[in-house]
Amino acid sequence: MKPALPLPWHAVIWQQWMQQIEDDRFPHALLITGLPGLGKRTLARALAHFMLCEQPNAHHPCGHCHACQLLQSGFFPDLHLLEPEDEGKAIKVDQVREMNSLVQKSSQQGGYKVVLIWPAEALNINAANALLKTLEEPEPRTLFLLVSDQPSGLPATLRSRCQYSPVAPPSLAQGQAWLKPQLTEEQNPEVLLKAAGGRPLQALKLAAGEAEQLRYLLLQVLEALVRGADPVEQASKLKSIPLKHLLNYLQSWLADSLRMGLAGDTAVQDSRQLPLYRQLFQLLGARGLLQMEQKLQHTHQQLKANPNIELFLESLLITLTQEMGHE
Ligand SMILES: [Zn+2]
Repeated sequence: MKPALPLPWHAVIWQQWMQQIEDDRFPHALLITGLPGLGKRTLARALAHFMLCEQPNAHHPCGHCHACQLLQSGFFPDLHLLEPEDEGKAIKVDQVREMNSLVQKSSQQGGYKVVLIWPAEALNINAANALLKTLEEPEPRTLFLLVSDQPSGLPATLRSRCQYSPVAPPSLAQGQAWLKPQLTEEQNPEVLLKAAGGRPLQALKLAAGEAEQLRYLLLQVLEALVRGADPVEQASKLKSIPLKHLLNYLQSWLADSLRMGLAGDTAVQDSRQLPLYRQLFQLLGARGLLQMEQKLQHTHQQLKANPNIELFLESLLITLTQEMGHE
């Protein structure tokens, strides 16, 4: 784990905080708000790392000091995380009390102590009251970072004890620049970002879901063919998958099936597909798999000259079915 850093569109709020720290007027509690998918937790973690680093350079944690090393190992006694014990449930008063007693002990590293609370709206009323008492009589060199998508769900008394720190979404250009290197070639950062309401982490989730859906669709088609389904009918289901994607998956699955057949289960790259590989190897054998790979390459070349994708898909699946011995 590298030191946590703010994301590009956090620059403005980060700069404000750095200025406050420099001017020695940094508050002891922040309420970091904004829509889901803007990286609020990343931002809170980045600030926590920065505060805990022993030799921060300019505006970032150094990455080398004892504190940074501890943070990177995932264990740091002066960083406390307060979140629901079960996802979607409340943060309970006992959790706040336990955190309070930990924080009241002096810092184990001699520096700052940081408490991250997310999602802050999950604090139940007793927990919020217990936290309020702590914030009313703050310990020195202790920072509370409350992260919330729905700050209106917090008691006003608690909100008033925190510096309000809204995270703004990036510009379209900035969001795209961040998103693009994390997408496949077929995925369009602008389309995804707009679909995600301008929230880059949300767009990334959409992208991952999209890729996963396509992979699943192809998997279903192959399994149907293995059971003897009609290849022309199955081919029509694949039209929505970008061709390059489809070829990449098919090629890697055929190659993986061959590896499994020749060198065993541990030789494959994507072990999730082992059941499919077993079926393919059983039906096609090493020879059939190699022939399919060649066919794939050959027709891919033809396709560049004459892009009739529908015909290509049908011909490919018919060949596959023939190789499986169904026809
Ligand atoms: Zn450091």
